[in-house]
Formats: sequence, structure tokens, C-alpha cells
Amino acid sequence: MAQQEAEVAVAPSTMVDMQSKDAAAASHSNHQQPPPPPPPQQYWVNGALIIGAGPAGLAVAACLREQGVPSVVLERAGCIAPLWQHRTYARLKLHLPKRFCELPLAPFPPHFPEYPSRSHFLSYLHSYARRFAVAPHFRATVASARRHRGVWRVDAHVASSDDGVGGGGRTRHVQYVCQWLVVATGENAEPFVPDIEGLRRCIVSARARAGAAPVVMHAAEYRSGEHLRGKRVLVVGCGNSGMEVCLDLCHHGASPSMVVRDAVHVLPREVLGRSTFAMSAAMARWLPLWLVDRVLLAMAALALGDVERYGLRRPAVGPLEMKKREGRTPVLDTGAVAKIRSGQIKVVPEVRRFLPGGAGAAVGVAAELVDGSVVEADAVVLATGYRSNVASWLKGQVNGAEEECRGLYAVGFTGRGLAGIAEEAIRIAGVLGKAWSRQMEIN
Ligand SMILES: Cc1cc2nc3c(=O)[nH]c(=O)nc-3n(C[C@H](O)[C@H](O)[C@H](O)COP(=O)(O)OP(=O)(O)OC[C@H]3O[C@@H](n4cnc5c(N)ncnc54)[C@H](O)[C@@H]3O)c2cc1C
Repeated sequence: MAQQEAEVAVAPSTMVDMQSKDAAAASHSNHQQPPPPPPPQQYWVNGALIIGAGPAGLAVAACLREQGVPSVVLERAGCIAPLWQHRTYARLKLHLPKRFCELPLAPFPPHFPEYPSRSHFLSYLHSYARRFAVAPHFRATVASARRHRGVWRVDAHVASSDDGVGGGGRTRHVQYVCQWLVVATGENAEPFVPDIEGLRRCIVSARARAGAAPVVMHAAEYRSGEHLRGKRVLVVGCGNSGMEVCLDLCHHGASPSMVVRDAVHVLPREVLGRSTFAMSAAMARWLPLWLVDRVLLAMAALALGDVERYGLRRPAVGPLEMKKREGRTPVLDTGAVAKIRSGQIKVVPEVRRFLPGGAGAAVGVAAELVDGSVVEADAVVLATGYRSNVASWLKGQVNGAEEECRGLYAVGFTGRGLAGIAEEAIRIAGVLGKAWSRQMEIN
């Protein structure tokens, strides 16, 4: 078994002391207060505690297992890789060729296409978890993690398995105590909704009017344009998700307008049948970034034409330089640029504010743009990205002292996608494998 856990042997006395002290303080200060909550169940985790069962968490657990290091994986959702299962659109394919998206120790099956689909990738992740016996504790949401007296104390709300409603009911408070904590909660943990005047009111009133079908949705909720046939859709954002949502809307006979606020690098996904990403990675090994950028931009001009003519302003720095400086990934075009050229996707400038009342339409939304024009739409898709949630629960470690960070590892936060995750998982497992062997020898 890759996972082992046992009741804490020494900590309960500390817990009892702390709780009785807290309870006494509470009863002195206010007799009307409800009784304090029961103390959390505590578990000592042998080896590593991994938070998150996305590709990164699975990869670390698998690599640790290969090193003989036990681990426990906590996942807030009820399944592995919920981002891929529940928060991605049906037509999604990996943006990069499959050899750049494999997790350690297990290549993709040879029959998979060069760009595996979402369902290919999910079947790969499921068999990966089975093969390396990774069995996460599901519906366990980490609320706080802190280092205290030389160990990590991780507090989680765990849905009771006996609540009979799939985890939506009662939760219990569990504290996991461990020496090694691996954070694998992802750069895309929470959908990001920008602060645009009128947007929140618009979301609430559009939802109330439309009932079950959201009129304003984040790209994380968008599955397909099937239900938007013949509708005008305002897509806010022009990253990979924004472009692909627009393309999907075109395939379903909708009329998308794409809001482009910032300058953006759009590159062809392939040139003459060869992956642009693979070529740029190969060139970057030998050439300076500025030169690779020039080659990439020349290829983009040949394959896509002058995209600035259609409102897709290019940044002053090249695509690789921009990725290095700002972490912003270039968009890899899978057909949206052709639809922009043909006018099926309209490019519009930044939204200044959303107008109340949807310009009088029974169901719908109106937005005033920075050029003063008004766009009316039947639906809005916010392809405005995601944020990490680590700062909300990891206590006191940001730029912390060395002792505060001891035993803390992170995977999947370097903006290098699945390829970066694979490298980091192998490295972390190597370090912990050696430390674990030393401990086993001593004991
Ligand atoms: C639409 C889309 C397409 C993408 N396509 C590609 C691609 O083609 N190639 C590529 O390399 N990358 C791609 N990415 C980037 C992609 O997010 C990563 O490559 C990959 O999913 C990251 O894996 P991860 O495990 O780090 O994060 P995630 O997959 O986000 O997994 C993190 C896990 O942590 C869990 N979690 C979060 N907070 C808590 C908590 N407090 N307690 C317990 N559990 C928690 C989450 O529920 C989640 O399961 C894409 C991203 C998106 C959004």
C-alpha cells in the first residue's frame, strides 16, 4: 500500500492540554458562548502528505511509491483531476504534443493521438492512479497548514462518508500531522472573476432570470456551445481558453465577440506539420531567446498573417521573453485566427462596465466598451483565468524563515505545465526518497 496512516501516538496529550486551556478561557470570558467544537481527529502520516489529486499530486505520489516512501493524498473534490473532469470544455485537447504532457514513469499509450483529447488524458490519469495505487482521501478540503514544534499540522474538513448525500452534508475536522508536506493544489485552483463595474450584479440578475442555464459563466463552467446556437456570446479574454471557447461557439453556430484587453502573442500550434512548441524548445537550447523569438514571429506571420490587422496587438517583447519575464504563455492557435479573419469571431476592445437591465432584453447582457460602443449579448463567458488558493490556507510560510519552510515542497507552480510537473515530481521524490532511506537505516 502506498498509503499508511496511524493515530498520533504522542500528540493527543498536547491537544488535550491546549483544548482544555482554550475551553477554560472561553467559559471565563463569556458564559453565553456555545460549547467549543470537539477536538479534531488527529492522524500521524508516515512519509509525505500531498495536498491535491490533480496530475501533480498523482505524479508525486507515484514517484514516492517508486522510492518506497509512503504518502497520503488529500483532495477536496470527489474524484481525481477534477479540473479536467468537471471544469474543462468538451472539445479540449492538450495544447502541447503528448511527449511534453506525460507524467513520470508512464508514457501515453502509443495509439493516443499527437494531441490527446480531454477524455484520453482522463483515461490516462485514471490508469496512472490505478497502476501506482494512488488512492486519495476525497472530499478532504485543507483549511490550514502550519509548522508547529517541528512538524506540519494540516487541518482539513472531511465530508463524512456516512452522510449519504455524496459528501454534501456533514463534515468533520481532521488534523493530519506529518514531517513532509507537498503542496500540489495547482495554479488553477479558483476561477478568477475580474472586478469590472456591474459584472457581479449582472451575474446575479442574469442567473435569477435564466434559472438553471447560466447567462454569465466562467470558462470553468463552459462545456460546449450546443445550447448557444444562434446566440450572441461575449467572451471576455483572449488566452488559450478564450480563443478555444470562441472556436467552439462558431462550430455550434453561435456568434462570439471576443474581448481583447491586453497585447497577446498568438502562434500557430504547428508549422508544416511540426509542433511550434517543440521547435522553440529545440531552438532555445542553442540560440539566444531574442533570436528564437524572431524565428517564431516570422513563422507566425507566414502561417497566420498580420494578426494586428484584426485587433490582436502583439506585445513589444517576443513570446519566449514574455513567458520568462511575466510568466504569460503565448496562445497556440487551433483555428480561431481563421475565424477572426473571416469575421465569424469579432474582436472588441476592453469592457468598461456592464450595464444594468441587459439593455432591455428579457434575457441577456449589455456591456459598454472602452471605445464607448455598446455590445449586447445573450450570454457572457469569462475566460479570465484562474488563481492559486495557497495563500488562503498555508500559514506564515511565504518568504518565511528556513525552519518555517522545512519539510515543505511544492509542485506545479512554475508555469511550465505538465512537463514542469513531471520534472518537479521526480526531483522531490528523489530528495524525500534519500531522506526516508536514512531514517529507515537509523531506526
Ligand atoms: C483549460 C485548461 C487547459 C490546459 N491544458 C494544458 C495542456 O495542454 N498542457 C499542459 O501542460 N497544461 C495544461 N493546462 C495547465 C493545467 O492546469 C496543468 O497542466 C495541470 O492540470 C496542473 O495540474 P496540477 O495537479 O498542478 O493542478 P490541478 O489539476 O488544478 O490539481 C490541483 C488539485 O488540488 C485540489 N485542491 C485545491 N485546493 C485544495 C485544498 N485546499 N484542499 C484539498 N485539495 C485542493 C484541486 O481540487 C485539484 O484537484 C491547462 C489548464 C486549463 C485550465
